[in-house]
Amino acid sequence: MTARLLDGRELASRLRRELSARVDRMPDSPRLAIVRDGSSDAASLYAASLERAAAGIGLMSESIVGPGEGYDELIGALNADPSVAGIVVAQPFADVAAGRRLVELIDPMKDVDGATPTNAGRLARGEPAFVPATALAVIATIEAFGIPVAGQRVVVVGRSAVVGRPVASLLLARDATVVICHRATRHVARETRRAEVLVVAAGSPKLIGPEMVNPSAVVIDCGINALDGRVVGDVDFEAVSPVVRAITPVPGGIGPVTPMMVLRQTVESAERMAAPA
Ligand code: NAD
Repeated sequence: MTARLLDGRELASRLRRELSARVDRMPDSPRLAIVRDGSSDAASLYAASLERAAAGIGLMSESIVGPGEGYDELIGALNADPSVAGIVVAQPFADVAAGRRLVELIDPMKDVDGATPTNAGRLARGEPAFVPATALAVIATIEAFGIPVAGQRVVVVGRSAVVGRPVASLLLARDATVVICHRATRHVARETRRAEVLVVAAGSPKLIGPEMVNPSAVVIDCGINALDGRVVGDVDFEAVSPVVRAITPVPGGIGPVTPMMVLRQTVESAERMAAPA
C-alpha cells in the first residue's frame, strides 16, 4: 500500500486562484508590509517567499529592511496607514528580544501572521483570531483533503508558539482530541502510534520513522530541515509513506501552503477595512 499524497503545491495553486479573484474585486490593491532587520538569511528567505506569493495574486508588498533606529515609529506608521492591510515582522532579529517586542506593537487587526500576544490569546481562548501561517496551513490541508478531525485522536509533536501550540488550539476548536508531545515526553512513539492524525513540527530531520505510526494514520509534516544537501521533513517520508493512509511530502506539502495563509489573512484584513463601518 502507498499513502495518498496530500499535494501542497496543487492546493497552493488553487488558493492562489481564489485569492487572486478576491484581490481583483477590490478597488485598490491592499499592501502587505514585511519588516526585517537584514541580519538573518531565514528572515530574508521568508520575506522573499511572501513577496513572490503576494505578486502572484496581484497584492502589493514591500519588504522593509529596518532603519536600525526608529522601528517603533515604523510599526506605528504602518498601523496607521490605511493602504496597509497586513504587517509581518520576519524573525529572527539580531537582537531577539527587540524583534519580539516589535511584534507586540503590531495592530492585532493587521497581524496577518498571527504573531501578537493578543491574537495568540484569542486563539487559545477559542475566539476568532489571526493565526500563525504554518498552523493555518495544516488546517487548510486537512480541510482541503477532507480529513475528519472531530472526535479523532490527533497527536501533535512540537509545542512552539508558531506551529505546535496554535495547531493544537485550532484542532481543539474543530473538536479533535489533541495530545501534544514535546522534548520532555517520555514515550513519544507510544503516543504517535495511537494517532489517527499525526502533525509533526519538531525541527528534527526524519524524527518519525515507520515504527512510530499506525497504518490508518494521516501524517502532516511541517518540518523543513537541510540534510545532506537536501530538504527533508521531520518525517522519514520514504520509509513512512508506504505504511500510512495519507501523508504530506517535504518539499511540496505544508511549505507552499504557508505563504498562501499569510495572503489569505491579508485579503481578509483588506476586505474588513474596506467594509462600511
Ligand atoms: P521549535 O524548535 O521552535 O520547536 C520544536 C518543538 O518540537 C519543541 O516544542 C520541542 O519540544 C519539540 N521537539 C523537538 N524534538 C523533539 C523530539 N525528539 N520529540 C518530541 N518533541 C520534540 O521549531 P518550530 O519553529 O516549531 O518548527 C518546527 C519545524 O517546522 C521545523 O522543521 C521548521 O523548519 C518547520 N517550520 C516550517 C514552516 C513552514 O512554512 N512549513 C514554518 C515554520 C516552521
